[in-house]
Parts: sequence; C-alpha cells; structure tokens
Amino acid sequence: MSGRVGFVSLGCAKALVDSERILTELRAEGYELVPGYQEADLVVVNTCGFITPAVEESLSVIGEALQANGRVVVTGCLGERPETILERHPAVLAVTGQADVDGVLQAVHGVLPPDTDPFTRLLPSSSGRPPHTSAAPQVKLTPRHYSYLKIAEGCDHRCSFCIIPQLRGQQRSRDAADVIFEATRLVAGGTRELLVIAQDSAAYGTDLRHRASEVGGRAIPARLPDLARELGKLGVWVRLHYVYPHPHVRDLLPLMAEGLLLPYLDVPLQHASPSVLRAMRRPGGPESHLRTLRAWRQACPDLTLRSTFIVGFPGETEEDFALLLAFLEEAQLDRVGAFRYSTVDGAAANELPGAVPEGVKDERFHRLMELQHSISLERQRAKVGRSIPVLIDAYGDEPGTVVGRSPADAPEVDGTVVVETDGTVKIGDLVEVLVTNADAYDLSGRATRVLPITPNVPGF
Ligand code: SF4
Repeated sequence: MSGRVGFVSLGCAKALVDSERILTELRAEGYELVPGYQEADLVVVNTCGFITPAVEESLSVIGEALQANGRVVVTGCLGERPETILERHPAVLAVTGQADVDGVLQAVHGVLPPDTDPFTRLLPSSSGRPPHTSAAPQVKLTPRHYSYLKIAEGCDHRCSFCIIPQLRGQQRSRDAADVIFEATRLVAGGTRELLVIAQDSAAYGTDLRHRASEVGGRAIPARLPDLARELGKLGVWVRLHYVYPHPHVRDLLPLMAEGLLLPYLDVPLQHASPSVLRAMRRPGGPESHLRTLRAWRQACPDLTLRSTFIVGFPGETEEDFALLLAFLEEAQLDRVGAFRYSTVDGAAANELPGAVPEGVKDERFHRLMELQHSISLERQRAKVGRSIPVLIDAYGDEPGTVVGRSPADAPEVDGTVVVETDGTVKIGDLVEVLVTNADAYDLSGRATRVLPITPNVPGF
C-alpha cells in the first residue's frame, strides 16, 4: 500500500544528511512525503541528543507529533538512548539509532506496508539492493545549488564534554570512490558548492588505514588532501568543515592556493588555555594553535578561519579566560561561534569540579563576543572596495537585489552578501561583486559580472 509520511529533521548538518538518506528510501518505496502532521499517516522524527537543550527540543517535538498525529517513529542521535525517549513518550511506535536507515524503514513498514506491486514499485526487491549504509541521498533538504557531503560517521576522540562517540560510535569513513561518486552525481544535478562534513574531517580515512579505492582507473587513498583534490577537480566550490588541526591539514593549503578548494577552514578549537584544554581532553595550547594558524595563513593569505569556543567550562578560571581572550586577539580569526558550557547527560565533564556559575558564564560569553565583534568588523571592513565572488542563495527583499555568500561564508553559520543587480541574476549563479559596505557579519555590494562555473563531470 505505502502511504503518507511526515518528517521532522532536527540537529546538525550530519543529521540532515541522515534525514536525506531516509527520505530518499521512503520516496523510492512509494511513500508520499507530506509537510504537516495532520495529513500524514505516520511521522518520523530525526532527533538530536548533543546537548541538554537539544534533547529537550527533540522530546518536545516528539510530544507535539504524538499529540497531532499519534503514530510516531523516532530515530537519530537521541534514539541511541531509547530509555530517555520512552520514559517521557511511551506511545512512540519505534526508536532507532542514528543513521539507521534500515531500522526506520522496518518501523514504517510495520505500520504502513510498502507497495509490493512490481508494476508500481520504483525499486527492485531488497535482496537485490545494496545496503543503505553508504547510499548517497537523492532527496535533498538543502537548496539545489549546495549540498552537504558526509565523508565519515562517528568519532575516535574522547572530548570530555561530548557524547557523540557514545551516540555515533567509532569513526567509520567512506571509501574515496564512494564519496567522489556521490559528489559527481550531486554536481551533475546542479550542486555548485559541496560542504564536506564529518565529526573530524581531518581524521578522514584513519580507520581505513587510508586504503585506496579506484576512480576512473586511478587509486585514490582515503586521506583528506587526496579526496579534496579529487573533489576540487569537479569544478565547483568545495568547503571543508570541522577540520581539526592535524599536521596533514597543511597539505590542503596548496589546493586552496591552486583554487581547487575554497580558502576556508572551520577549525573547532574550543579553548586556548592548556589546563582547560586538558580537562576537555583536547590537545594543544595557545602557542601551538597560533603557530599552526600563522603557517596556514602564510601558505594561503586569503584564508578565512572559523572556529568555535566554549566558555564557562568546569574549572575555567579568570586567568584561563583571559588567556582565551588574548589568544583571540592574537589569532584574528574571521568567524567565531561561542557557547556557554552546559552539561550533557553521560558526558565525562559532568564529574569535573569547579562548576562556573551561570552569571559568570554569561558575562564571559558577552566579553568574548564583544572582543570578537571588533576583530570581525575590522576584517570585514578590509573587504570594502574589493571584488569578490558570490554564490547566490536567494532573492532579496528590495527589487533587483539578491542574497548570496562569498568564499568566506558557509551557509547557516556565517554571514551573507546582499547584492544589487540589474535584475538578471538567478539563484545558483556565481557573480563578481564590488563590496561597498560591511558590518561584523554581512557585506553588501554591486554585481559587476556573472562568473562562469564549469562543472567538470562526465556528460555535463
Ligand atoms: S572531536 Fe570531540 S567534540 Fe567532536 S565529536 Fe569527537 S568527541 Fe565530540
């Protein structure tokens, strides 16, 4: 029979890719995807379990779906802790863990049996199909012109504030050939920007011992610089997220200088004080971080650096925090996200002494953001008068304007560029923009010409 399925996707870009995989399979099996709880025969909720507010949001969305529809299947990170869900919502039909596409399908089949008519089914019977684990999604939840590309699942680090390794398990990388195949298909389908994600993209392939897989008769090792070079050859923007400062990251910089990768690195450093980093179970300190960042900027002067930091971690003293501010002053990062530390059920950091009062966390958060605001503003203002490429995401509020992003802006987390045009520029176009105005996050300017994008995929 098949039926109508409602879907709620919560959490990060990595969870979004899982949602795309599940939706792709459901649609291929003949299920109709509907936007509201009321018109659905069943609702799937892909949850996030990263930090306490995310758990609360997931539990409240499950409650909402149960109330409005009554038939709810739960999956995702929080699904790794079924007791948390079932205690609050015993009426959910099934709970499956993150990236468990088969588990969700089975649960949906239990309530809404799939169409088995060989004349109307889109897919052959499951015995002839590959497993879902590495299947490239075909339903996209992002606009047509950019796509997330997940290169690995799980994480081998043990940061004390994080339960991702418990939720998502050890790192499991995809073979380079598998990733390149998916990227090629996305580019052929209209993607103009690939956003490479993993829990730690720089660690890509370590679990495979960097084994090579074959692409067009060539052996490509599962190693980030090798993979990035191949992705860069597809002729679209390639942006790397969650790149930890491993030594081989420096091998990426020549690729940026060559124009194969966007000169952009998203490097979650989390702190600069050695004692806080030790308590977080993360390596490094201010000198080593600064040495690394300086070397990267020397190799690629146009590099945009983004990072995230946690303030108010247990045991963080005023001296530790001052060290973090001094580091930010010195590092001159372009983009910074800051979070007030909050406990996560099951995280080792919960046992640490020296909880920082909420008022102090707030005060440190604002001091950090104020300092970073002035740094970002200065760096943004330096772009006024320059011409930059901008990929267009949307039409603007004013007639003739469009809104896009430069190489320095990742979707959702960074700024935008508002562009005046002659009215002919379309979503997905790449335009050259003369920057006329800047604030700490966003730019505005005038389109001077449309730039060519020449995707390099077979048959394009
Ligand atoms: S690197 Fe650390 S913070 Fe990131 S997912 Fe792994 S354990 Fe969590």
